[in-house]
Amino acid sequence: MRFHASTISRVSHLRNKAPISCQASAKPQSNHKQGCNFGIAFDIDGVILRGRVPIGGSPQALRRLYGDSGELSVPYLFLTNGGGVPETKRAKELSELLEVNIMASQVVQGHSPFRNLLKKFENELIIATGKGDPALVMSEYGFKKVLSLEEFASYFENIDPVSQYKKWTSMPLSNKKAPSVPIYDVSSERVMAAFVVSDPVDWGRDIQVLCDVLRSGGLLGDANNYQPPLYFAADDLEYQAAFPYKRLGMGAFRIALESVFNRTSAKSLEYVTYGKPNPFVFKNAEIILSQLRSSSCQNPYENNGVLGSQPFKTLYMIGDNPSVDVKGAQQAGHPWFSILTRTGVFRGKDNHTEFPADLVVDSVEEAVDYILKRECVESGS
Ligand SMILES: [Mg+2]
Repeated sequence: MRFHASTISRVSHLRNKAPISCQASAKPQSNHKQGCNFGIAFDIDGVILRGRVPIGGSPQALRRLYGDSGELSVPYLFLTNGGGVPETKRAKELSELLEVNIMASQVVQGHSPFRNLLKKFENELIIATGKGDPALVMSEYGFKKVLSLEEFASYFENIDPVSQYKKWTSMPLSNKKAPSVPIYDVSSERVMAAFVVSDPVDWGRDIQVLCDVLRSGGLLGDANNYQPPLYFAADDLEYQAAFPYKRLGMGAFRIALESVFNRTSAKSLEYVTYGKPNPFVFKNAEIILSQLRSSSCQNPYENNGVLGSQPFKTLYMIGDNPSVDVKGAQQAGHPWFSILTRTGVFRGKDNHTEFPADLVVDSVEEAVDYILKRECVESGS
């Protein structure tokens, strides 16, 4: 991939009318490659993958962001509200599915900001729930005393009165772990926070156990009005998975939990949600993209001694969900530019009415093509 223009047209935020205008200019003077004054954030579900299947020409689109020798030419990352596995593992999975080398630092999941709560809960007992391995995710962030909600529940006989009907929980004896000996004495040690790391698998049990924990100040049976902090990695009502129709996301679980909690408690549920469309997620993405640019893309300003300090002119958010991806980019403001694909939650012919994107395209491949043309970058491949 080569950069053919030293001057890049200023971004116009006219919806669907952003001009593609590159001023003719000499090729880079020296051998060093020009750095990027733009970056890209890709949503995953409904844009890059549907389930585990690449969609919208995503492998080809991503390949265009690398140079001939496989080095990163355009700083990009994945900005997903999904999760459930550590970023290192997710990067490995994505690399295999998309056939490009993706680093863990390029994967920002809904729960990635939970790291910032380490100071507060590093040595406190916390519980984590969701698909995948939520306790491992939290442990890898550095939290020292993490129990999965499943494990926490296993210390209390009959906490889930319908567990015997849940056939999916019965596994061959050989696969079962040794009888649980509590690592932590959950009958005397208080749970100081609860984390919904990814989409819960067993909603009924999780709602029941979370209500128990949150209503008792973190110590079951205790008459304590204090509600331990509750954190959600995201608040998506719906998302696009492998099934043709939209599926209920973590936001739907939050509504279910909140409804039940508020009906059965004197106080209303208090919680904090992370993930898109929160503006801080986009601010954080901008910082990571800037770091990626410094470490992976050579900087055009290095001869002027302003190494890596130039702000991005444009950051593109490519997503399929208007109320999450587009709304988030809009709220974040400059330099974000939203591109909505028709491969996931959004399938409209025209733009979305409530959260219109700066550009609507059929696929991620079309989005990347648009960006590279607009930024006057010619693919060498
Ligand atoms: Mg999506």
